[in-house]
Amino acid sequence: MKVLVTGGAGYIGSHFVKLLSEKGYQPVVLDNLSRGHREAVPKNIHFEDIDLLDAGSLSYFIQTQMPSVVVHFAAFAYVGESVEHPDRYYQNNVVGSFNLIKVCAENGVKNFVFSSTCSIYGNPSKVPISEDQPVQPINPYANTKLMIETLLKDFEVSSGLKSISLRYFNAAGADPSGIIGESHNPEPHLIPIVLQTALSKREKVFVFGNDYNTKDGTCIRDYIHVNDLADAHLKSLEYLINGGKSNVINLGTGKGNSVLEIIEKAKAITKKEIPFEIVSRRIGDPAILVADNMKAKNLLGWIPKYSVEKIIETAWNWHSNPKF
Ligand code: UDP
Repeated sequence: MKVLVTGGAGYIGSHFVKLLSEKGYQPVVLDNLSRGHREAVPKNIHFEDIDLLDAGSLSYFIQTQMPSVVVHFAAFAYVGESVEHPDRYYQNNVVGSFNLIKVCAENGVKNFVFSSTCSIYGNPSKVPISEDQPVQPINPYANTKLMIETLLKDFEVSSGLKSISLRYFNAAGADPSGIIGESHNPEPHLIPIVLQTALSKREKVFVFGNDYNTKDGTCIRDYIHVNDLADAHLKSLEYLINGGKSNVINLGTGKGNSVLEIIEKAKAITKKEIPFEIVSRRIGDPAILVADNMKAKNLLGWIPKYSVEKIIETAWNWHSNPKF
């Protein structure tokens, strides 16, 4: 079965492409390589350097390939950048996704899996967060993701394009093979920053605030392994193909770890010093984000397998010897 993967050269997309190949699916990758890495996609996989803003090339590509499912990862995903450059985010994420959804609808593609985010819940009033909590994004990045979820709902009515929007919590870790992993430039995420500090590539970790209403005062997040995310995409695709209805689904482990806990665990795993300094809060960071993942378990039969220790271990394996 042919599966079109946009952003397949990116962090989560490349792990999903690897899983698809291992399971006998035929991935076809679209990536404009603005933030992805060509090396992340094996040479034997069909790869096209097409930008979703190039509606003509995209339309030709979909018409000639006619995938059974589209799995859409391609997006800009830095909250801070989205605040400074909302134009980039609305253009790349919303217009690009609109072009893709429109061409899928016009050409009779029936199944679509979308990378959404838990940040569309904004500052949640209840934790753990279930899908029926109100969506109230507090930055342009999250606004773009919510708009795309809305586009998918509207296009389903007119064309029958079914979709699963997967609202990820904090993606982290790397494939245990060490062949692919997380490589962002600049790197805003906690676990890579902590491990780069263990490797002395950074002097210290700046901990953004220790005056939150949490057990140690630092923010709590639900870190979910990238291969568990990839597995949820596969299960979503199979669910849709087997006649499942459109839905939105949270993907997290249901367990939270504070920033200081991550640093402590990383110290134990790497056996390195990890100096840190407490600095002021980062704007827009909610105190606690932890998923209620019952819907993913019940609907998809998805159970995350990697502990936070395993997440740090696999990330350490990658960051100690990154391939790109
Ligand atoms: N964080 C931090 N220092 C850093 C990077 C992140 O203290 O250099 C904190 C951040 O405030 C948040 C958590 O680590 O509470 C996870 O941040 P990340 O950027 O990895 O993911 P986000 O939760 O923003 O999606």
